[in-house]
Amino acid sequence: MEELKSLEDLLDLMDIDLQIDKLLDQRSSLPELTEYKSAHEEVERLTAAKRDAQRSLEEADSGFDKANLDLEIDAEKAASEQNRLYAGGLSARDADYLRREVEMLYKKVSLIEDRVLEYIEAKELAEADVDRLTAELASETDDKEQLGESITNQWRLIDKQLAVKEERKAASIDMVDGYLIEIYDSLRESHEGRVVGRLAGDTCGSCHLKLSAAEVGKMKKDDPPRCIHCRAILVG
Ligand SMILES: [Zn+2]
Repeated sequence: MEELKSLEDLLDLMDIDLQIDKLLDQRSSLPELTEYKSAHEEVERLTAAKRDAQRSLEEADSGFDKANLDLEIDAEKAASEQNRLYAGGLSARDADYLRREVEMLYKKVSLIEDRVLEYIEAKELAEADVDRLTAELASETDDKEQLGESITNQWRLIDKQLAVKEERKAASIDMVDGYLIEIYDSLRESHEGRVVGRLAGDTCGSCHLKLSAAEVGKMKKDDPPRCIHCRAILVG
């Protein structure tokens, strides 16, 4: 009877182990984990995109400042040369020379004005990009944090259940003979699912295959009794 008690406890142990397996599987396959991974990747992508947009904005800013300064200098120069021309008192040749120079200076000013406008446009685009990416990044970061919280909460609950099962497992192991635990452990390593089954009449409770009367008789003489089909340890 002693031995049977040990086998019954082994059956309990397997049930607890299967419950632990299920909890561990649940822990590692929460749907939020996949969502968290994509949210994390999206946050990384948006962070890099925002950095690029900020760099473009800085470039447009400094380009704008430089072009603006050039514009100021050249416009002033053009105006002062034009004033000299208007003041008169120049020989026809000098006046003609100065007229060409003023023309050239205004052409240059006009080109710089185009550059300034381009920088203004680039600045506006980059500013809009930075604003949009900042908002997207904030929202995605929020989603990611919420997912992280949900995962932590669910893990906490699962871990609590696991701790209870582990305690029951430890108590259960103490009830079972060492040599049975060894067989059980090696079976668990090579087989999934129920490695201990109850013999129901002539049917194995693990693989559900039938054993002949002779096979049952022979099996019952083994210690521990094991199914000839799936090698599960059979109880009862
Ligand atoms: Zn079997």
